[in-house]
Amino acid sequence: MKTPKKLIDRFGRTVDYLRISITDRCDFRCVYCMAEDMTFLPRHQILSLEEIFILAKTFVELGVKKIRITGGEPLIRKGALDLLMQIGALEGLHELVLTTNGSQLITAAPILKAANVKRLNISLDTLDAAKFKELTRTGDLQTVLNGIDVAKKVGFERIKLNAVILKNRNHNEVCDLVQFAIDKEIDISFIEEMPLGVVEKHNRAEAYYSSDEIRADLENRFALKKSTDNTGGPSDYFSIPNTKTRVGFISPHSHNFCSTCNRVRLTVEGRLLLCLGNEHSIDLKAILRSSDMNSKNLKQAIIESMEIKPEKHEFNVNEQPIILRYMNMTGG
Ligand code: SAM
Ligand code: SF4
Repeated sequence: MKTPKKLIDRFGRTVDYLRISITDRCDFRCVYCMAEDMTFLPRHQILSLEEIFILAKTFVELGVKKIRITGGEPLIRKGALDLLMQIGALEGLHELVLTTNGSQLITAAPILKAANVKRLNISLDTLDAAKFKELTRTGDLQTVLNGIDVAKKVGFERIKLNAVILKNRNHNEVCDLVQFAIDKEIDISFIEEMPLGVVEKHNRAEAYYSSDEIRADLENRFALKKSTDNTGGPSDYFSIPNTKTRVGFISPHSHNFCSTCNRVRLTVEGRLLLCLGNEHSIDLKAILRSSDMNSKNLKQAIIESMEIKPEKHEFNVNEQPIILRYMNMTGG
C-alpha cells in the first residue's frame, strides 16, 4: 500500500502544522507556566536533536507544511540553532517559525534568519520592568526589548508578540502593549490563560480575563476592524486602520477553535499529542528507539494516530487541572 501524502483525521481535518517542544527547560519561571522550583527531565528521557530532526522530516514527508519550534525556551537548548538550520532546509516545508521568550534574541536573531525562520513569536506580557520580574520570576525586561529591536533589524516576514493577560496583574496594560506593537510595526496576540499543570501561588480562576474583556478595553482607544487574515493558527485577527499592526485573540475558553484545528504537538519526551486540552497521544520515542524502527513503521504509526485526534478540548479554570502536564513540556 502506498503511504498517503496527507494526514487527515476522522473529522476530515487535514493536519499540516506540527509544533515541537525541543526542551522543557527555561531561563524564566512564568507564574502561569511553571512552578518556582521545577524539576526538569533527565536527558535520556527527552528526544535527542537527531531524533527531533528525523521526526520533523517524517512529518514533512506526510504533508506537514508548517513547523513551530517551541519549548521551554527553545533557544537555550545547546545545538538548537543547528537543528533549526537543518529543519529550515527541509524540502516541502513552507514555513519554519519559532516561539521564544526573547531572552537570547540579541545574539540568536541573525542566525534564526539564516536558518530560514520566517516568523517569530515573542512573549511579552508587560512593559513594566518590576512586573516583568514578578511575572517571569527571573527575566529581565530590557534584554527582551533589546532582543525585539535586533529581531526587527534583522527583518523577519513577521514578528508577533504574545501576551498572556491576567486580571489584576497586567490587564491594565493591554492598550499600552498594543501601542508598543504599533510603534514597532509588529503584531500582537492576547492569550487566555489555560489550566495546564499545577502552579502554586497563582489562582487561575481569579486571574481569568477573557478575550472579550480585552477587546472591549482596546476599543476604548483603538478602532479594531475584523480581519479575514488567517495565519494557520488559532488567533482571531483585527487590524487597526493606518497602522501595520494586527491584533489577535487566542481564546481557548471563550471561543472554541477546535473545528478548524490543523495541528498536533510533539512533546519534549517524544509523545505526539493530538490535542492540547486532552491526553490522547502516541509514543513516538518508543518507536524511534525500538529495534525494528524503520521509516515505514514510523509513518504508519503517525497516520494511525489521526484516528484518536479528539474532536475538541474542554477547559475549566474553576476546576483543578485535568491536564497535569505543563505548557513547557507540550510547547505552547
Ligand atoms: N518560552 C517560550 C515563550 O515563552 O514564548 C516558548 C514556550 S511558552 C510555553 C509558549 C507560549 O505559551 C508563551 O507565549 C506563553 O506565554 C504561553 N503560555 C505558557 N503557559 C500558559 C498557560 N498556562 N496558558 C496560556 N498560555 C501559556
Ligand atoms: Fe519559560 Fe515560556 Fe514557560 Fe515563561 S512561558 S516559563 S518563558 S517556557
